[in-house]
Amino acid sequence: MSVLGTPERPLRVAIIGSGPSGFYAADDLLKKPLNIKVDMFEKLPAPFGLVRYGVAPDHAKIKNVTKVFEKIASHPQFTYLGNVAVGKNITVFELQKFYDAIIFAIGAESDRHLGINGESLVGSYTATEFVAWYNGHPDFQDHHFDFSQEVAVIIGQGNVAMDVARILCKTPEELSKTDISQHALEVLAESKIKEVHVYGRRGPAQASFTSSEIKEMGELSDCYPVINPADLNLNEASLKEIEDPQHAGRKKNIEILNHFTTIAPNNRQRKFALHFQRSPVEILGKGHVQKIRFEINQLGGEAGHQKVRGTGKFEELDCGIVFRSVGYVGIPIKGLPFSSQSGVIPNQAGRVMDSEQIFSGWYVAGWIKRGASGVIGTNKPCSEETVNSLLEDIPHLNPCENPSTDAVLKLLKDREVRVVSFADWKKIDAAEIERGVALGKPREKFARTTGMLSAIS
Ligand code: NAP
Repeated sequence: MSVLGTPERPLRVAIIGSGPSGFYAADDLLKKPLNIKVDMFEKLPAPFGLVRYGVAPDHAKIKNVTKVFEKIASHPQFTYLGNVAVGKNITVFELQKFYDAIIFAIGAESDRHLGINGESLVGSYTATEFVAWYNGHPDFQDHHFDFSQEVAVIIGQGNVAMDVARILCKTPEELSKTDISQHALEVLAESKIKEVHVYGRRGPAQASFTSSEIKEMGELSDCYPVINPADLNLNEASLKEIEDPQHAGRKKNIEILNHFTTIAPNNRQRKFALHFQRSPVEILGKGHVQKIRFEINQLGGEAGHQKVRGTGKFEELDCGIVFRSVGYVGIPIKGLPFSSQSGVIPNQAGRVMDSEQIFSGWYVAGWIKRGASGVIGTNKPCSEETVNSLLEDIPHLNPCENPSTDAVLKLLKDREVRVVSFADWKKIDAAEIERGVALGKPREKFARTTGMLSAIS
């Protein structure tokens, strides 16, 4: 019988990462009828991961989920250790001395590459860096984006592409009431962008944006949507696909896109144009993006299994700025297996594994476990599956040698790490909300770690 989780000896779990999957894992652990202590490590002072730094500033309602996370953080068996970078301030192997199990809920921090010429020209950016920049992420504040251009291209048709398009197409007035970073707002207010062209390699029936996100693009104050009506003549397989009740959103998307063909510009200054069945093959320019070349694709095959094939026909669009929005991938962690093909840590129901073994006591949850897909709520069942695996494994876990959070805090103090507690975070939070009042915004984030720390010094 294992002693872990009994009144005499709590099961001690470290969660690395404070985004949705980390909090849902903590919640599930703390609801179990066992004595479990959860310490959550976050490399930034501020918690909530992609809810804070990924969700678009004009989607305030989605961010309300932080209220749920705050409640979880108030549990007496929960400790938040912000401003602690695992791998830098403390290693994974050191953590094993203090915890019986570790859950890596570190998300997918990097971006997928297109692998085409010109990808790294000046003026070609990833959606990831643009999103992090306008959301005030401290690691991205020195990035520069050239909005002196009139034509922008976005590659990819997921919801991140829609977020990027919306932020580019909204007026400063539309953005000014959101929690967009003030610096980004000021830069975007000077933007000369007149056209935003969003390209997908498949057809409108296969686009991965969701209905509410595409619908918004027809409701902007100074931007009108444009779509070639011929693109909405679906082939037989696509017509079947949109009738699939498992993908009810697809039919709705087509209805919305059909409605877009009826919308007139009405003196609106910016244009949002959707293009389908186009794969980027090269970004061209002398030192700076000047145009992009696409191969025109043909879509074919059985419903649900359609594939695109290049036709050998090409077209080009003059543009000055390109955002690649083709999905996020994880970043490897020293000492843990990693699949560079899928960008995740290989796992079996959340148990970290490689081709030979399961790594006892190590688990994953969220995007680093299953890849960058789904909405915030998708992480709940994902984290619950991981927690179930962990609890099943209790009899086989090696109890750690020093089961003490105070010992972790002492080690970090000796290394001069200023650990940010949840109470500290609430002070930073209050200071940001106060900074927002002066600007008529819900909050003005500290976009530098030093700013966050000065609010609690
Ligand atoms: P995504 O939904 O996977 O979309 C990626 C897009 O990139 C797809 O259109 C994909 O086309 C395209 N793509 C991939 N490789 C390509 C290539 N080599 N050439 C051309 N196009 C390529 O990813 P995401 O937009 O980054 O979003 C990540 C997750 O976060 C999604 O689950 C999304 O719904 C979620 N999210 C939700 C919200 C919200 O709820 N408001 C906001 C943001 C993000 P194919 O389909 O052909 O592969």
